[in-house]
Amino acid sequence: MTKTHQGYSISTNDKGEQVFTFVQGNAYQGSPTNQTINSGGEARTTAHEIAHGLGLPHIFTGVPAVVLNTLENKDNLLNSDANSGEGMTPATGTKLLPAQIDVMKKVIESVQPEKTNNDKPEQ
Ligand SMILES: [Zn+2]
Repeated sequence: MTKTHQGYSISTNDKGEQVFTFVQGNAYQGSPTNQTINSGGEARTTAHEIAHGLGLPHIFTGVPAVVLNTLENKDNLLNSDANSGEGMTPATGTKLLPAQIDVMKKVIESVQPEKTNNDKPEQ
């Protein structure tokens, strides 16, 4: 399943005004190998897409539900501007909760090759 992230890159123009540039990224959820992640070059979007690749869903479409779609989680990295919950946008946060880290660890472990006796360090 492809997860698309919609967000904004914020920069300042030569008049000192903030400029919001639309950024869209995408990644396959739970597929950390053999894929290209698009992020428009924006750091938060890159981290967000990598987190999808490592198995995390959005907080508002949580399958599996890892984080509740509530205001205290508005600043979560897996929130996005596609969140229709009241007060849940703009999504600019970068927090990850321990339960999310656990999901990513399990996906990373799932793609590790089986260890064999040949992998043991020399004694
Ligand atoms: Zn996303």
